[in-house]
Amino acid sequence: MDCYNCGIQIEEHNKSEEHVINNSLGGHLTSTNLICDACNNFFGHSLDVEVDAQIGMFSDLLGIKRHRENKDRRVRIEMISEKGEVKVVGRKMRPLHELSIDTGTKRIKLFEAEGKYERLKLAKKSELTKKFKVEDREYIQEPDKTKWHVKNSKSDTRGNIGFGGYDYFRGIARICLNFYLSKGHSINYAARALDFVKGKIEHNDLVFYYYPTTYDVHQLDKEEVSHILHLRGDTRKKLLYTYIELFNFQNVLVIFDKDYEGNEINDTYVYDLVNGIEVNKTVSIRLPRHHVEIMHMIERDADREHLARYNRFQQIMEKRQLLDD
Ligand SMILES: [Zn+2]
Repeated sequence: MDCYNCGIQIEEHNKSEEHVINNSLGGHLTSTNLICDACNNFFGHSLDVEVDAQIGMFSDLLGIKRHRENKDRRVRIEMISEKGEVKVVGRKMRPLHELSIDTGTKRIKLFEAEGKYERLKLAKKSELTKKFKVEDREYIQEPDKTKWHVKNSKSDTRGNIGFGGYDYFRGIARICLNFYLSKGHSINYAARALDFVKGKIEHNDLVFYYYPTTYDVHQLDKEEVSHILHLRGDTRKKLLYTYIELFNFQNVLVIFDKDYEGNEINDTYVYDLVNGIEVNKTVSIRLPRHHVEIMHMIERDADREHLARYNRFQQIMEKRQLLDD
């Protein structure tokens, strides 16, 4: 096998264990014949950093054990909700990631990562308590459901519940590409996805948030938190794509090929993060051919579902932390 990024032949001396889904997200699926150690290192310091920065903390907050890690990394910290409430206080207040909020004009750092945290803890706590006094807080409902707005005597703070961006989507596309190639499928049909991962496609026209409202992609169990990868080569519709769910709220469709001429493919991988096991599940995407041309519109209409999914996840996360007390 050749490294899909630089093309060098992968041999004993330069091979590396690549996590199909980032280790920081609790990914357990690995492959040693995807990329060389130099490229693994390169992505580890670029795209992976972006994905980890945006959603890596959720695996910590769920107390998910990472691959090849004995240390219990269960983290119990305060979070500021979209309503400005300080939530979830646990015994070990040692966040592994810094937390910040977006005020619309600037990002305010709430907590430093572990290490710097202890000495900042008390000062920050009293500062926050003052800032978000319960009695004078007013939560203003914005027409756009992805935005929040909290007003009180000391601050007028706006923000959005936002994930995404060019590098983030490249990181997500890379996970999907890893999965596709780890299944032994041809790189030829994944050329555009690879170009996107490499940053060669300036305008993203292949990676979209996907929250269909007319059907269920799969049956989501009440307390389920999982990572899902669903690879589909549809010879009738001539489409090749990968659908991914991270924590069941970052749900993304990556269109690999709109003129797919390869074999029929239907590969699904579901990892139950709560129980730490791979599970069998039926996942199916109903994607009419013409939808791939209007994905931007479909994506825009899905904001409400996106937020509902995030709120569901947050509730499960908080419940799990409280149960732990
Ligand atoms: Zn390489």
